Amino acid sequence: RSGEAQICGISNVRVIARVRPPFQPEKPGGTACLSDSTLEVVSQDGSSLHFTFDKVHGLPSGAGNTQADIFSDVQDIVLSTLQGFNGCVMAYGQTGSGKTYTLAGDLDSNTEQGLLTRSVKHLAQGISEMTDGSEFQVHLSVVEIYCESIKDLLSDGPGSTSLAVQQDKELGIIIAGATKVAVTNESELVELTQQGLARRTVASTSVNAASSRSHCLITLTVQRHLPGGSVMHGKLTLVDLAGSERQDKTLAEGLTFEEGKLINKSLSALGNVVKALADNPSGHIPYRNSKLTRALQDTLGGKARMALIICCSPAAANAAETLSSLRFGTRAK
Ligand code: ADP
Ligand code: MG
Repeated sequence: RSGEAQICGISNVRVIARVRPPFQPEKPGGTACLSDSTLEVVSQDGSSLHFTFDKVHGLPSGAGNTQADIFSDVQDIVLSTLQGFNGCVMAYGQTGSGKTYTLAGDLDSNTEQGLLTRSVKHLAQGISEMTDGSEFQVHLSVVEIYCESIKDLLSDGPGSTSLAVQQDKELGIIIAGATKVAVTNESELVELTQQGLARRTVASTSVNAASSRSHCLITLTVQRHLPGGSVMHGKLTLVDLAGSERQDKTLAEGLTFEEGKLINKSLSALGNVVKALADNPSGHIPYRNSKLTRALQDTLGGKARMALIICCSPAAANAAETLSSLRFGTRAK
């Protein structure tokens, strides 16, 4: 028995679903792709539901689900930063569904590199192909949002926690005081990112499971100095969202009720913003309901382009969480 297909048409928000391969001894059969735009979730009770998105990755053959395939879905968003546009690519899903793999991947391996390294490579390529005499500067910043508090992951110094979101006349939304490091080559980027992600993990020993319950925002800003003297600003933010698993799980992990509530609050605030943007991008968008949506404001709305990647486990045992993640994706349509 197959549930009604949920058709998600064209809108401002691009939604992509990715099903990771099964691990031993996981039993697949929970979630699988039926075509390059439809996937099926079979619940524990045997009922099944189909979801249609702009693109889905994870056909059983494994074809079309490489890191390069995912990059090609968002390449236009990445390259538009060279023309002064903002963009955002977010990974949503339960812990262990492949969010960090998709965004960062294995930084040391050529084939397993995620969106970040690929983005930098393609930006460098795009810059080298410019023939109008523009000069470019690319900077990286990495921050973590945990329980409505923003922390700089590129610095341990005093003042690296409790950063504020501010509106800058020229630059738009900024995280005041967050370290911005110039990126001139790929190995530098890899090293910086590893340092940043390591700080995120270190934090998790003091606050139990914080790394999977925090949002990590990796931002590449592109400054383009045109020959005439004017300057264009574009930025790309990659967002490794907090694990979307439900509150009963956060309690089991030892988080307080208050922490669980704040984590859920920011994800639901994001869901509301994404839904508002999909329904009526020129209407009221409730950015101010969380630090996350406030920090992302000018990479989501206006002329910005965004993609939401729903990361899914293939396991039958995870079908309920996968369903809830996919439903989050359908709100954007
Ligand atoms: P999350 O960040 O959502 O908690 P991870 O990205 O850490 O999940 O993924 C969990 C594990 O699965 C990691 O060991 C990761 O390398 C592996 N993994 C995730 N997605 C894939 C994929 N598409 N192909 C191969 N391995 C994957
Ligand atoms: Mg992760």
